[in-house]
Amino acid sequence: MDVKPNLGKPSYLSKEPLAMGAAATWLTFEAMQEVERPNAEGEWEYFRSSRRVAWKTGTSFGFRDAWAVGVSPRYAVGIWVGNADGEGRPGLMGVLSAAPVLFDVFSRLPQENRWFSTPYDDMTKVSVCKESGYRNLAICPVDTIWAPRSGLKADACPYHQLVHLDPSRQWQVNSDCESPSRIIHEPWMVLPPLEEYYYKSLNPILDRCRPCAKTACPLPDKSS
Ligand SMILES: [Zn+2]
Repeated sequence: MDVKPNLGKPSYLSKEPLAMGAAATWLTFEAMQEVERPNAEGEWEYFRSSRRVAWKTGTSFGFRDAWAVGVSPRYAVGIWVGNADGEGRPGLMGVLSAAPVLFDVFSRLPQENRWFSTPYDDMTKVSVCKESGYRNLAICPVDTIWAPRSGLKADACPYHQLVHLDPSRQWQVNSDCESPSRIIHEPWMVLPPLEEYYYKSLNPILDRCRPCAKTACPLPDKSS
């Protein structure tokens, strides 16, 4: 019998537009894999060689119930933990109560030797700011990443600014108090105070914006 390949859309695929594209879904699954996972005692263990699972937990307000959902190429496992009468219980958190059950279920399922293929046909190479991840300005350090095609419409980096410094790079200056030929124009990553306080502890590179708060001479009045 002459068997012809079915080149049309499989009938089980919806004609409705997808809520998330293939690239966004794949990148989300990449972010949802943790090598550190909770065991039955709620302690975190490092699972270098365990199977790949994209997973997420949740806990309702008042610890009334908790859940954990995990996905692999062949299986989707959902775990719900709670009291049938809806009564809350301290410590009933998704990551401590539902996640250990989730990984226990996965450990009993047949092994899989593959992960989802990278959907390159829904992705494009995008240049981004290496430090903020937004689309890069001309003054940003640049990195190139694979991103969903819609990533081309992402906002430009709001954090890199060109600041004007004295030769020691310790003070902001302008032509009122420094010779223009001695002024150094340098891109700096300037975060709002709260974000700077938080991220500085994680990424020492952000500590570089300290001179931005110091001015050796009056800065131009931006309101005029
Ligand atoms: Zn930038």
